[in-house]
Amino acid sequence: MRFIIILLVCLLYGVLGAEELSLTVLQTTDIHSKVFKDGANQLRLAALIKQVRTEAGGTEKSMLIDCGDLFQGTIEGSVSQGLLSPSILKACSYDAWIFGNHDFDFGVPVLIDAVKAFGGDCFAANLVSSYPELKYKAWKIYEKNGIRIALIGMSPPYMEQWYAGDLLKGLKFRSITESLGEIMPEIMKAKPDIIILAVHHGMFAPERLDDNENMATLIKEFPQVNLILGGHTHIDEAGKRLGRSSLYVQAGKYAEKLACVDIVYDTTEKKIVSMESSLIPVPVDGVEDPDSERVAEPFRKATEQYSNKIFGVSENDFKSFKGSLNSSWNNLLALASMKAVDCQAALISAIRHPEIRQGGSITGQAVYEMMPFENRLCTIELTAQELRAVIREMMDFQKDGNCQVLYGLRIDLDKEGNCLSGPFYPDGSPLAEDTRIKVVMHNYAAAGAGGRFKIIAALKDQKETAFHDSGILVRKALECYISSNSPLAIPETEFMLLKKVK
Ligand SMILES: [Zn+2]
Repeated sequence: MRFIIILLVCLLYGVLGAEELSLTVLQTTDIHSKVFKDGANQLRLAALIKQVRTEAGGTEKSMLIDCGDLFQGTIEGSVSQGLLSPSILKACSYDAWIFGNHDFDFGVPVLIDAVKAFGGDCFAANLVSSYPELKYKAWKIYEKNGIRIALIGMSPPYMEQWYAGDLLKGLKFRSITESLGEIMPEIMKAKPDIIILAVHHGMFAPERLDDNENMATLIKEFPQVNLILGGHTHIDEAGKRLGRSSLYVQAGKYAEKLACVDIVYDTTEKKIVSMESSLIPVPVDGVEDPDSERVAEPFRKATEQYSNKIFGVSENDFKSFKGSLNSSWNNLLALASMKAVDCQAALISAIRHPEIRQGGSITGQAVYEMMPFENRLCTIELTAQELRAVIREMMDFQKDGNCQVLYGLRIDLDKEGNCLSGPFYPDGSPLAEDTRIKVVMHNYAAAGAGGRFKIIAALKDQKETAFHDSGILVRKALECYISSNSPLAIPETEFMLLKKVK
């Protein structure tokens, strides 16, 4: 009797147990070139990845995917022209990298180089590209531990709301749902066991963007997608169930977390038995991966060199005049931008950098902190009326730090941003209503700053405004202005004044 029970158990185990296969999916996203910073960084993340992947049975039984925004966010990212973080992905044997919006910051040729440095698979199912070298697969089947996984990769659909001008010329980013609808029939034909969508997009789009790419809606239309790996919004999502049986996971930001999804698949029943996920924090004092460190070393040297380089000196301290609106940092940024493209007026991001307060030597580090983005200088010709409307709308974003400050022309506003008088030239004469004035802006603001500034975004597409992308990096303009005008004495001029209405 005992023998029969043992035999039955063995048979049952043979039928049920042997067909259950395991797969671990690891995800990182929005690392933003945090490689050398203290605490959690990509070098410590790399060490954690290798440990977790070994425990999961190695590359044969696991997939490792990055969902984008590798390039921008630190001085090492800028100095390496984005190359640093993708090189570390290679050192960690990532299977795939999906491009985020910031991965296009340096333009197409740099992205192509970074893809070569990465060496793994890149996907761009919703990218229509006129560059033969920048065309990537929409999806691919991977075989891991006997399981066939279809991986689809997509970039954010709203790119034109972040980049104005020539940077993305020849590229078009389509809707996620539409692109998915087109490729799903061929994916289903390939009969994958598991379908994963890796995308640089969050659960929900921010309010200011059209939310037709909501993940909960998407999963209703495409319930065959088992797992969505998201990004972009910088939130932690350890695992949210979507629809009947799908899962949404997002590994936060800045190399702080590694997302880990353990899947058990039944090959007889042809279905997922279980899908458990978690976010593993990167130990803030953990070891750094030696292979990744070796790859990063030349970039560390180049970064130190740039950080310590002295571009010039400032005779006065940097300070804010009126809250976030007028400051000597803005004035310096505006003067440098105006000089580089020969303009009399500027609309420049209101920056607050309490860490650069004192005058004296201006190093590469300080220049980077003044302009941590790869923005380019653009010009646009606006009438007084258009300028007032543009400023009125931008003032709505004063609190979240995305307001633009006028320089070279004075304007008086009430607290809501309505124009009380102006714009005036510095000598006090008003801007004639029937003429246009050339204003320099940064390409991100001219694009509407991610759906915030709709008026300027629409004006740039009108022929009369003669919108032009100079191709000059704002940071380069700053470096150039500082070194050719040193010692600097930045005037403490307040161009945008908030006035109390009686
Ligand atoms: Zn990001």
